[in-house]
Amino acid sequence: MTAQLIDGNAIAAHIRAEVAHRTAALQARGIRPRLAIVLVGDDPASQVYVKHKANDSTQTGLVADLERYPAIFPEAELLARIHALNADPAVHGILVQLPLPKHMDAHRVIEAIAPAKDVDGFHVANAGALLVGRPGFRPCTPYGCMKMLEHIGCELAGRHAVVIGRSNIVGKPMALLLLQKNATVTICHSATRDLAAITQQADVIVAAVGRRNLVTADMVKPGAVVIDVGMNRDADGKLCGDVDFAGVREVAGWITPVPGGVGPMTRAMLLVNTIEAAERAAAHPTPG
Ligand code: NAP
Repeated sequence: MTAQLIDGNAIAAHIRAEVAHRTAALQARGIRPRLAIVLVGDDPASQVYVKHKANDSTQTGLVADLERYPAIFPEAELLARIHALNADPAVHGILVQLPLPKHMDAHRVIEAIAPAKDVDGFHVANAGALLVGRPGFRPCTPYGCMKMLEHIGCELAGRHAVVIGRSNIVGKPMALLLLQKNATVTICHSATRDLAAITQQADVIVAAVGRRNLVTADMVKPGAVVIDVGMNRDADGKLCGDVDFAGVREVAGWITPVPGGVGPMTRAMLLVNTIEAAERAAAHPTPG
């Protein structure tokens, strides 16, 4: 069997078109959806990410304000800036690019963002909302993975989903979103024994570790859906995921490529969360 490709670029393009449509509807009412993107320091990868996020935003009609601060920027000043953005009714979404410089407490910074503007979905209020099944912002990467599963018509109820990785931004929220759809979920991590024995039973595998070739063909049940979140470099410096793509695609039913899979979906879901924030603000404007 050769797996069908889940084309993240194509699905993301479709989602961006929907966001552009929703943005135009708000603009027609005199509201300009606005995302503040805050970058502290000069991490090269972060600089590329924020540029992409700002470009994606403007291409869908959202206003993106990119604020850059030096690596030595004091945490107190960053917190003051976040409080000002929280209080500004013209700003609908706030994103602080991670990682932050070492002298800053990333938790404290993220918790300073108003949950209603936390379009990354990292605030504990949004994490808690996901845990108890209440509305809130979902972290963009697992949210994008769910959209991919939805797109291919993957029925999750009663199926066994195995998530490899348990980070707060990918693995844990991914597991909760799958659970919400009534999948039977197993979470694996660095202390998991016999990973292959677990993945071999999976109808859906989500690999979110950051280790090249972690998932090989012998670990995959024929016909399974394989979502590869990992971002690594191969020996030639080319971007690759956690899954041995060439081998696994001969066994799986569906598979995401890297690049062109989860990455573009993550970027698209940030736009979805931002337009959602603007729509909610428009529906419940703050007095004054
Ligand atoms: P992370 O915080 O480093 O978490 C990695 C997880 O993998 C941890 O839970 C760790 O377990 C687990 N792990 C490590 N070695 C393992 C092993 N041998 N077997 C099973 N589990 C193992 O990373 P992250 O932020 O979740 O990101 C994961 C990967 O996704 C990275 O490659 C990252 O670049 C990529 N990513 C991609 C996107 C995208 O848009 N495509 C977005 C976000 C992240 P412990 O908890 O026990 O340490």
